[in-house]
Amino acid sequence: MRVLVLSDIHANLVALDAVLAEAPTVDEVWALGDCVGYGPEPDAVVTRLREIGALGVRGNHDLAALGGNEIESFNVDARRAMEWTRSAIGDATRAWLAALPERLVRGSWTLVHGSPRSPIREYVSSTSVARAAFRDLASPNGLHGHTHVPVAFLEAGGALTTVGPSAGSELGLQGLRALLNPGSVGQPRDGIPAASWLVLDTEAATATWRRTAYDVASVQAAMEALALPVRLVDRLAYGL
Ligand code: ZN
Repeated sequence: MRVLVLSDIHANLVALDAVLAEAPTVDEVWALGDCVGYGPEPDAVVTRLREIGALGVRGNHDLAALGGNEIESFNVDARRAMEWTRSAIGDATRAWLAALPERLVRGSWTLVHGSPRSPIREYVSSTSVARAAFRDLASPNGLHGHTHVPVAFLEAGGALTTVGPSAGSELGLQGLRALLNPGSVGQPRDGIPAASWLVLDTEAATATWRRTAYDVASVQAAMEALALPVRLVDRLAYGL
């Protein structure tokens, strides 16, 4: 099965549509949470994900958009954007977000937003947390988002390797346990503004990371028109 893996779209429809235009034909689309928050088009992003039949899990911003107290831990800019998001989303978006599970198992893969033990909150951003994540996974392999940085943690015989995948690089996963992060579609934080995503081939056991440039300026203009926080507008151009 070939799967398009997306995460942290963050209400950035322009980025999502650019990715979908470039993506190969796939059997399934998996979304690893934070479909909304920060960006200007939450309803349109969720509508698109529903149209393409995406399967997903819930992120901290998705939970906050539904009224969860996650917003208490947000910084001032994220909180302002979330207050706007809450006022902007419609019933269909709420219903779709509310139906997202915290964890989803598809074959040998477990999908979470954060980490297997703390699917909403924990960042898998170090080898020690990755090591714990492999212990906690209920399946051989895992997919996560939340950090907005593409990375692969690979385990074989107790030894852990970390790979910072570059665009277009195909990683062979045969004989390994893998915990993969596709990076962020709508707000990358690895210094590259282009949308980050990956294609997983579950039979061939390969993962290929991709980057797609999109019209960042048009998203920034939409955010400015909605008076969303300037820092959130600016960071899209830097990918940080
Ligand atoms: Zn996020």
